[in-house]
Amino acid sequence: MDFSVSEKMQTIIEMINEFMDREIIPLEPAFLRKPFADLVPELEEKRRMVKQMELWAPPHPRKYGGMELDLMEFALVSEALGRSPLGHYIFGCQAPDAGNVEILHIYGTDEQKETYLRPLVEGKIRSCFSMTEVEMPGSNPVMLETTAVKEGHDYLINGQKWYSTAADGARFAIVMAVTNPDASPYLAASMVIVPTDTKGFNLVRNISIMGHEGSGWHSHGEILYQSCRVPQKNLLGPEGHGFVIAQERLGPGRIHHCMRWIGECNRAFDLMCSRAINRVISPGKVLAGKQIVQVWIAECAAEIQAARLMVLHAAWKMQNLGVKEAREDISLIKFFVAKVLQKVVDSALQVHGGLGMSDDTILAFLYRFERAARIYDGVDEVHKVSVAKRVLRDYENRVVR
Ligand SMILES: Cc1cc2nc3c(=O)[nH]c(=O)nc-3n(C[C@H](O)[C@H](O)[C@H](O)COP(=O)(O)OP(=O)(O)OC[C@H]3O[C@@H](n4cnc5c(N)ncnc54)[C@H](O)[C@@H]3O)c2cc1C
Repeated sequence: MDFSVSEKMQTIIEMINEFMDREIIPLEPAFLRKPFADLVPELEEKRRMVKQMELWAPPHPRKYGGMELDLMEFALVSEALGRSPLGHYIFGCQAPDAGNVEILHIYGTDEQKETYLRPLVEGKIRSCFSMTEVEMPGSNPVMLETTAVKEGHDYLINGQKWYSTAADGARFAIVMAVTNPDASPYLAASMVIVPTDTKGFNLVRNISIMGHEGSGWHSHGEILYQSCRVPQKNLLGPEGHGFVIAQERLGPGRIHHCMRWIGECNRAFDLMCSRAINRVISPGKVLAGKQIVQVWIAECAAEIQAARLMVLHAAWKMQNLGVKEAREDISLIKFFVAKVLQKVVDSALQVHGGLGMSDDTILAFLYRFERAARIYDGVDEVHKVSVAKRVLRDYENRVVR
């Protein structure tokens, strides 16, 4: 196993870090206060700069304008971009579009690739992924009520989804719907591409998340599909293969998320250490002199490093041995890194006192929005149960002395 970083990647990471500090982090105060649409002109300008630097769309296919970095390489990039909530967006590899690019690239027809994939990679349009339902448990995704019924040459889609991230302003949704109700649960649903200007696609609201509705890319939509008619050629991949494709989408996606969270941990850790060094709490004494703060700093340093190595290990396994071999590692990192992120952000916020609760630093934003890290892309409990089952299976026929 080799985690050494090539010269090419060292140069790329240095360029990204420098750009993040100079161009992106200064945008955060506006990001925290203004509607997303107000920021778009400035964000577009930064995106143009990234394209000029030839660092656009790092994980996406070269054929469509990306850099086509491999999983290990993109893991490092994702860590660097994760230092700001705007990083991935400005470099053209933000969720949920990045996952949609992957499945369109693998399963899209030539026509779907030209209509949806190319402009998506180019950053000309956005998309959303519409799977979770209001009335059904997202943690058990074989339970879906949304249906796509064939009528003539079309599918007629009916159902109520929510948490379709970035639906507001998206050009199309990839919708998970039951097409084969009589098949086994894992072969009952399909993915269908639905342009958002189709009659019957109704964005009901942006869900308020911890007091913030958000807008544009930074939002989570509730969508009512009411006799929403799309041609059958909008089926993505084989009929009944929705879950198979969803699993493929989630594998690399979890590596991307986890490395982004490590980037967030690094940012919170930097802020914590800098505040501890500079905050005078009694004449001639700073917070960093307090042992309890030193303990937090040491524990966070250890846990960030452990989490980072676990993610790189999982990425290495996925890249070299395949998704199946890395399944357990992916579950491990998904709940472990989310927990480390919460602890690091919480410690950094505590060290900042009242300043930490304010929106004058990025910490309160991370505290609010990344609570969801333990919920999206598989809730903690489901990952833990699946790891435990696999671990215990090994002991069934084993004598331990
Ligand atoms: C910020 C955010 C963004 C999201 N983005 C998207 C998106 O773009 N597209 C999309 O389709 N969905 C998205 N989701 C939805 C997300 O995938 C679901 O919320 C998640 O799958 C959990 O489903 P649920 O909310 O229905 O919770 P439920 O399934 O109702 O589960 C509730 C709780 O029950 C417990 N639980 C569940 N199963 C088990 C079990 N087997 N054992 C023990 N305990 C269990 C867990 O504590 C869990 O938190 C997003 C969610 C959030 C919060």
